[in-house]
Amino acid sequence: MIKDLRYIQLIKKTSESLFPVVCNNCGSKTLIQGNVGICTVCELVIIKEENDLQSKLFETVVPLLTKTSIPEATKALESLSKNANTPSSSYVIGVFYSILSDYAYFNLNYNDKGFMEENATNKYLSLDLTSKSKEFFFRALKLISNLEQKGDDNLYLEFISNIKLGRLFYALNSLKTLNTNKTEIYCNYANMVYAVESRRKDAEHFVRPMLSKSLNAFYYFSKVLAQKKQLEDAISILTFINQNINMPISYSYLIKLESILAAAGFN
Ligand SMILES: [Zn+2]
Repeated sequence: MIKDLRYIQLIKKTSESLFPVVCNNCGSKTLIQGNVGICTVCELVIIKEENDLQSKLFETVVPLLTKTSIPEATKALESLSKNANTPSSSYVIGVFYSILSDYAYFNLNYNDKGFMEENATNKYLSLDLTSKSKEFFFRALKLISNLEQKGDDNLYLEFISNIKLGRLFYALNSLKTLNTNKTEIYCNYANMVYAVESRRKDAEHFVRPMLSKSLNAFYYFSKVLAQKKQLEDAISILTFINQNINMPISYSYLIKLESILAAAGFN
């Protein structure tokens, strides 16, 4: 049920102003505004003219990132992880493991006969994939810490890796330096993510201006709405995103909110 159509109209309007590209970090199909934007799958910055050597690395895995191809995708990730020796390729592998972990976890099927055993297997698989994803986020951080000089791209990578690991304190350190450097694309997006993830009361103030620029802003907006107890609006945004946009991070959050709403007896 869509409670407030205005939000859906907003997403459509933003989508129409964006162009399809293949992310040069993770190789996924996504939408960005102009020549620079944020990938809806890996949340890294895409620069259109940049070479796409890294995206080629993930060519075989990207089509396997589905709810039904978890074993094949895991195998493919394992074999290419030996070649992932840059901070951004390690980070992308972390993101992919985390997507698969969400799929495995929410594939729990309580209606199946013998569901107990199958669900236990899915839970352990999900935990295993989560720990693998953390391992690669930490590997990205280690590789960045070895760099003599960190540009904005690596500072941002350090920021977003720490966000994925739930290490807000460390994320804030990178954010402070990004804010000193003032490169717009990194600053605006990182400030929005930090405001929402740290549950700042004024988070909406950081999200609103981003809604016309990045589709990911709608995912963060749904988090703000959920924090304000507007669960139905948050769910309608996430449902629309899941059906129309390649943004796997929104999947587990949608299911989480739906189960909160169901538990509260609202539907
Ligand atoms: Zn990407």
